[in-house]
Amino acid sequence: MTLAKVLIQITENMVTTEIEEYIGDIPNPKLKDSQAKLVFSAEDDCLFWNNLTPLSNEEIVLLVNRISKWFCVNSPKISFEGHTYNSAYATSNLIVLPFPISKSVPYICHEISHVINYQIGPADHHGKYFTTTYLEVVKKVLGLSAFRELKNSFDRFGVKYN
Ligand SMILES: [Zn+2]
Repeated sequence: MTLAKVLIQITENMVTTEIEEYIGDIPNPKLKDSQAKLVFSAEDDCLFWNNLTPLSNEEIVLLVNRISKWFCVNSPKISFEGHTYNSAYATSNLIVLPFPISKSVPYICHEISHVINYQIGPADHHGKYFTTTYLEVVKKVLGLSAFRELKNSFDRFGVKYN
């Protein structure tokens, strides 16, 4: 098995076991997160989601602060500690990136989009308001080609956005 294939398999495993919506203090915790699996599948189908090179903690803080400023939200706290769920997740004021590949740009874009969605609202976990924000974050951070790739993948998987 090639290294790339191993990496993809690990990523899928991480993504499909993501349980962030049930962790931490978040708005609308009882709102059904019916689009989550489709969003993860659409991400798995994007080439830019294959580059999961970990950034340094300092680079992550700079990137998260920059994105927070662009979207006029309060910068969240960032935790790099492992925790009982061993999953990347976000609340309105916290991002948890507990394992090396979660310190990469695609994960950071995904998690900061939750922070923005939870602070600005309507908070909908992986719903259409989240995906719309997520597309904007990807466009701003990774550029137009990654934005188009994600949008096309959303369309293929039937992920709703505005
Ligand atoms: Zn998520």
